[in-house]
Amino acid sequence: MTATPGYDPQNIFARILRGELPAHKVYEDDKALAFLDIMPRCPGHTLVIPKAPARNILDIAPEDLAYVATIAKKVAIAGMKAFGADGITIQQFNEEAGGQVVFHLHVHVIPRHSGMPMKP
Ligand code: C5P
Repeated sequence: MTATPGYDPQNIFARILRGELPAHKVYEDDKALAFLDIMPRCPGHTLVIPKAPARNILDIAPEDLAYVATIAKKVAIAGMKAFGADGITIQQFNEEAGGQVVFHLHVHVIPRHSGMPMKP
C-alpha cells in the first residue's frame, strides 16, 4: 500500500485491511471492504472502505470513490433486506471539523426503521 499525502498507514482501518486488527466483514473484493461498525448507531450499521489508501473524499481518486459508492449501494440494499429496514442513511465525514475520527475514507451505511431514532 503506497501512502498518499496526509495518509497515515497506521490508522485503524488500514490495520484492519492488513489483517492486524479484527473486523466483522460483510463484503470484500479486491478494491473494497465492508464491515460492521463496532459502535452501531442502528442494527446493521456497516462501514464501506476502499482498499486504496485514501484519507477521505478530498484526496480519493474519482474512480475509487465511484467504486466505493457502488459497493455502498449493494450493502445498502442487502442491509435493508437483512434487517427488514424501511430506509437507509448514508453518512460520510471529512477531516476533524467535518466529524471524521478515523482517517481512512469510509461510508456509513445505516439501515433505518420508521419511528426509530439513530443513536448519537
Ligand atoms: O466519524 P467517523 O466516520 O470517522 O467514525 C469512525 C467510525 O468507525 C465510528 O462509527 C466507529 O464506531 C467506527 N470504528 C469501527 N471499528 C474500529 C474503530 C472505529 O467500526 N475499530
